[in-house]
Amino acid sequence: MKNKIEKKTIISNVKLIINNKKNISEVANELNVSVKVVSHWISIYQSNKKKKRILIVFGLSVFLLICLPIMLLIFPSNQTTSASQKTLSILPQKENVISITTGTVFIDPGHGFSDPGAQSPEELGIDLVESEVVLDIGNRVAEILKMYDYNVIMSRTENYNEVQENKFYKVSLENRVKQAEESNSEVFISLHINVYEQSSEINGYDIYYCEKDESYNSTTEKFANEISESFIDNTGITDINIHMTPRNESFYVTRKTTMPSILFEMGYATNVSDATRLLDNDFKKKLSVSIAKGIINYFNQVD
Ligand SMILES: [Zn+2]
Repeated sequence: MKNKIEKKTIISNVKLIINNKKNISEVANELNVSVKVVSHWISIYQSNKKKKRILIVFGLSVFLLICLPIMLLIFPSNQTTSASQKTLSILPQKENVISITTGTVFIDPGHGFSDPGAQSPEELGIDLVESEVVLDIGNRVAEILKMYDYNVIMSRTENYNEVQENKFYKVSLENRVKQAEESNSEVFISLHINVYEQSSEINGYDIYYCEKDESYNSTTEKFANEISESFIDNTGITDINIHMTPRNESFYVTRKTTMPSILFEMGYATNVSDATRLLDNDFKKKLSVSIAKGIINYFNQVD
């Protein structure tokens, strides 16, 4: 009667022979078969292995030639679509924005360190410090722009510095302009909060730029318009005005910079509703998105 040997036993013994742990005659004796039979098992095992390898190579080739191009069509790589996908999800795309162009943006949160800037008067009962709020807004705008691959330079990113703790320290206006020029920033935006001590009734938003030559004025006006339109779209507030001021009446940072440069007075610290809004997280979010979106729109429409 022929011995019925399990396939499992055959394979494990063949493997032992291939790995030189047993020899053919040893196995033949143990399983009570001839050496010829064991040799036959080995050749079958090896040819099966070869077939398997061919099948794997064939399968991989089919995948690479057919499936991969199809998958790439369905799921395009992140790099090619990231900017437009982000635009759709975070910043709704304007009809006339075709592609996302990026660039270098200079954000200047006004004042800082030992210069707090405007503060709400005590009788208002609102604890608003200009240098803190404009820094918060500036950092938020920078964060959004960086998501869109913009290069963002800031005149300051903090309001407290241990090293400077006991000194009278502030970032000078000259230094802010110098940083913007040296970093070859393409636009400059200075963030401030207004005050009008004579009346708490005065409120609203103002964008200032300095009158220079014709081409500068029209480019900078476009920039200011984008920020203003985006502000209205995102906050629903229409009380925003753009002012082109003569050189001698202009703010230092808008006068001395050579790139399109604006100064944004984001409400009045002396007005209850403006000041309350500036401490509200939802409003700060809308304001930051509106500034970032205005900058992105400018970069994508400028000639
Ligand atoms: Zn200020």
